[in-house]
Amino acid sequence: GAAFSGKGLRKIYVTGETEVHALRGVDLAIEAGEIVVLLGPSGSGKSTLLNIIGGLDRPTEGELFYRDLRLTGMPESELTRYRRENIGFIFQFYNLIPSLTAEENVRLVTDIADEPMDALDALELVGLGERAQHYPAQLSGGEQQRVAVARAIAKRPGVLLCDEPTGALDSATGVRVLETLERANRELGTTVLIITHNAGIAAMADRVLHFLDGQIARVVENENTIEPG
Ligand code: ADP
Ligand code: ADP
Repeated sequence: GAAFSGKGLRKIYVTGETEVHALRGVDLAIEAGEIVVLLGPSGSGKSTLLNIIGGLDRPTEGELFYRDLRLTGMPESELTRYRRENIGFIFQFYNLIPSLTAEENVRLVTDIADEPMDALDALELVGLGERAQHYPAQLSGGEQQRVAVARAIAKRPGVLLCDEPTGALDSATGVRVLETLERANRELGTTVLIITHNAGIAAMADRVLHFLDGQIARVVENENTIEPG
């Protein structure tokens, strides 16, 4: 079934006298369990769309559904609950708390989620079971990002939204982070959306949405990815 469906999404940022048309009429259909990459030049609207999908921002115009939930027009409190229950975020910078171990960073989420994974199981899923008692400063950049992935998946969100998750990493390290996202997709059925500038990363996606100037200019189905199940 559909995870997200959107129609006529527009976003206009108004700053003083100037208007920026960040999204210029985007229609969207994302299936549950897909890995979708958002590719395109800086400023083409990728982050704006991801933030709207994640309930961090609202479109100026258009409609967006997550399954049966109509996100557009939803009161702020319901949007916050939608976000807490369904969305895991991963950003370019890992935002781990330096005074807490890897396990404690993940437990910040599992302590408040409804039906969380065990924090250690989440760390094992990203290949860091052995590093659970390490502090962020004792981990490499790639390992820190994998802790951030563990933290994001530990509440079992239906959707992972990743904004340049490998932007601060070299390509070999980035590939390992991407493998953890694929594993979450395969083992937990998580729908994964990834913003990247890197065409190599796009090869692992089921579909690639090519952004240009606030629109999805092209959608490419990737035949080479292995379909789960
Ligand atoms: P990228 O997508 O290239 O990683 P960002 O998403 O951080 O970069 O920003 C893209 C563009 O949006 C940049 O040109 C940045 O200046 C602009 N931008 C981001 N946030 C704001 C803001 N709050 N006000 C004005 N411009 C912003
Ligand atoms: P991308 O993620 O593809 O780099 P963005 O969605 O960040 O693109 O930005 C799209 C356009 O919207 C850019 O022109 C950017 O400068 C502008 N923009 C993004 N966020 C803001 C903001 N908070 N205020 C004003 N302009 C913004």
